[in-house]
Amino acid sequence: MSRRPPFAEWLSQTNDVTRTFLAAGGMADVINLGGGLPEPSTYPAADLARLAHQAVEEHPEDSLNYAPIEGMTALRDLIAKRFSKGPLRVGRGNVLITTGGMQALDLLGKIFADPDSAIAAQSPTYLGALDAWRPRHPVYRPMRLNANDLDAEAALDGARFAYTVPNFSNPTGELVDVTTRRKLVEAARATGTPLVEDDPYGALFYDGPPLPRMLELDAENEGEGEGDYDGPVIYLGSLSKELAPGLRIGWVIAAPEVIGALVLAKQGTDLATSSLSQRIALDALEDGVIERNLPATLDTYRERRSALCAALEAHLSEWFTWEEPVGGMFVWITAKDPRIDTDRLLSAGLDCGVCISPGSVFDPEGTDRRSVRLNFTANPPEVLEKGVERLARAVRGLIA
Ligand code: PMP
Repeated sequence: MSRRPPFAEWLSQTNDVTRTFLAAGGMADVINLGGGLPEPSTYPAADLARLAHQAVEEHPEDSLNYAPIEGMTALRDLIAKRFSKGPLRVGRGNVLITTGGMQALDLLGKIFADPDSAIAAQSPTYLGALDAWRPRHPVYRPMRLNANDLDAEAALDGARFAYTVPNFSNPTGELVDVTTRRKLVEAARATGTPLVEDDPYGALFYDGPPLPRMLELDAENEGEGEGDYDGPVIYLGSLSKELAPGLRIGWVIAAPEVIGALVLAKQGTDLATSSLSQRIALDALEDGVIERNLPATLDTYRERRSALCAALEAHLSEWFTWEEPVGGMFVWITAKDPRIDTDRLLSAGLDCGVCISPGSVFDPEGTDRRSVRLNFTANPPEVLEKGVERLARAVRGLIA
């Protein structure tokens, strides 16, 4: 094409660093610590093959047809039932099935954000969320959670919504404590600002029982027996990490009014999430596939988390600090040596055969040059160790 097509303005706003690290992850001979993928051998392939066959053979009227925009009724009901506990009552009208959690983020941008709208976002922020909302030109209010000085009400007041990943943030792996969760819920109630609880890693707790969801904490405000959930929390779930990302099944639990707006947005996006995937997901949930499969996955990830942290201790502790995460898929390391610029470490690392994700891509302002996200789920222990050794070589080259 001789002339550049007349692309929308936002397309020129993804930076080169993002493009470099996304492209580099798949290069041959490069150990990819920069991605965010699960370990494919943990997917319950035999079970899913059986259920896929059964879905088409026994339920062609469901699995080969368009599903309702809101999602397959039986799947919505099952999710509603699983989430209804204690004072939290989730009804079918509270549930929307989405094409992965990623689509929920896109739809939230569609229904809430106008140009220059404020979004209060846990900082640093999931790259996919920044990507989803970039076409809407929002203005970010960064929130550091787990901090004594967090003024949640000031952060949320006047924002279109607040975005958080309380269970093992992507990128930092941090777990938001219960005090901060309560503070956010109270602030959402006081200001009327919707509070997004993005929870794809909620099943990946390695060292203890899960913390209460903000959706559950908020239901305590509504009290028991007053009908289905109608509060400010917008909960996003996904089967990507606990079952398989290829199914592309996620869901939103929110007040019926919000679900209604999301349905309108979804109608103009994909009409419906794959019926075949929804049918397989429904049968997998009813069949107990996740309960049977998840413990072994958690063992694999727990071992890999320890292996990555041991390798960091052995090879990088002179230059970086980090906290060992208690779940999720990432370790966030921060340079203590001012000579280390982590954008430059991306290219230095690639020269040594390792890909990392630099902190700048998770920063709405793009200014973080001190941090790096490392993934531990997608490689076995010996490869993680080799990757960290290569990274240490890259650091030495950078500060020499
Ligand atoms: N939110 C966060 C924080 C994520 O890390 C991811 C995936 N890496 C998603 C949402 C989207 O996941 P999916 O679309 O596969 O459900």
